[in-house]
Amino acid sequence: MESSATMESSVLVVDDSSVVRKIIKDHLEGHGYRVLMARDGAEALDLYRADDIHILITDLEMPRMDGLELCWLVRAEDEQHRTFCILMTADDDIQRRIEAFDAGADEFLTKPIDMPMLRARVRAGERITRTHRLMSEMLNTDYLTGVLNRRRFMERLEQQHRLSRNFAVALFDIDHFKRINDTYGHSNGDMALKRFAATCAARVPPGGFLGRLGGEEFCMVLPAPDVEATIALVEDLRLATSAMTATTADGVDFSFTVSVGMCPADGTESPADLLARADESLYFAKNSGRNRTVVCGTGGVVVKARFYVM
Ligand code: GH3
Ligand code: MG
Ligand code: MG
Ligand code: MG
Repeated sequence: MESSATMESSVLVVDDSSVVRKIIKDHLEGHGYRVLMARDGAEALDLYRADDIHILITDLEMPRMDGLELCWLVRAEDEQHRTFCILMTADDDIQRRIEAFDAGADEFLTKPIDMPMLRARVRAGERITRTHRLMSEMLNTDYLTGVLNRRRFMERLEQQHRLSRNFAVALFDIDHFKRINDTYGHSNGDMALKRFAATCAARVPPGGFLGRLGGEEFCMVLPAPDVEATIALVEDLRLATSAMTATTADGVDFSFTVSVGMCPADGTESPADLLARADESLYFAKNSGRNRTVVCGTGGVVVKARFYVM
């Protein structure tokens, strides 16, 4: 038996004919899909970038940007193959189809469109994109906290470093975390890690990102046009952490603190050097009493803030 949309799949329909667009849209919406429309490749690319598209159904011949170029550009940006690309064409020129597959198309539909066949192709696409999305999530995210895992974080850091050196890294290490595990048990330790990660994640500034490097150690990359503002954000996060109360399943409240080592990228160091310098600052924060932020300045390590020590 045929099933309708099994998840909230977003379908982007691209055709220069408003009639074709409307027929496909109405049909797929009637079967539970969320449908977006574009008149040509250029308009489609903007929508693709602003949204999360599961299935792209595009006409081949269109003004401005055709389906082939659109497929090629989407594929170039969609490393993890999160979007399934279906090309529609009225002609059955084999050479053209080969070119389209090489440009990254996954499937073909021949015009005039047969609607049950369109839905079957979309369902096949959903199966594939679902698997790709699951795999990319497993590959990139930390299972416990949902933030980037170490592998993906390092990749993003390398990318950021190639793109612009105007950023800072902040390395967070929860203080005396072993005590939390020893006192309240491992599962409450896990809960504390999740609470902390969520607190950090909510404060990642636009253009920044957060990863779990391991255990109770997290790292945030912050775009740093203004170093003082970046430090203030990190300090705010440190204070929010110490003000937070976690409650165990047995109703026992507990709190914890975090130490931070920060290092602004000065344009010369490699990502590994940068992390090593942030780590030195963190070590300094730990050794000078914990629950503080230490910023690595050009003149060495500077204690930037000192509040209460647990
Ligand atoms: P410090 O203030 O010097 O950082 O002390 P600490 O106790 O936080 O540091 P230490 O490195 O001695 O201990 C970290 C602990 O974190 C040890 C390890 O068992 C625990 N840990 C690592 N990963 C996890 C995890 O996923 N869940 C839980 N509950 N504990 C973890
Ligand atoms: Mg056309
Ligand atoms: Mg640690
Ligand atoms: Mg620790």
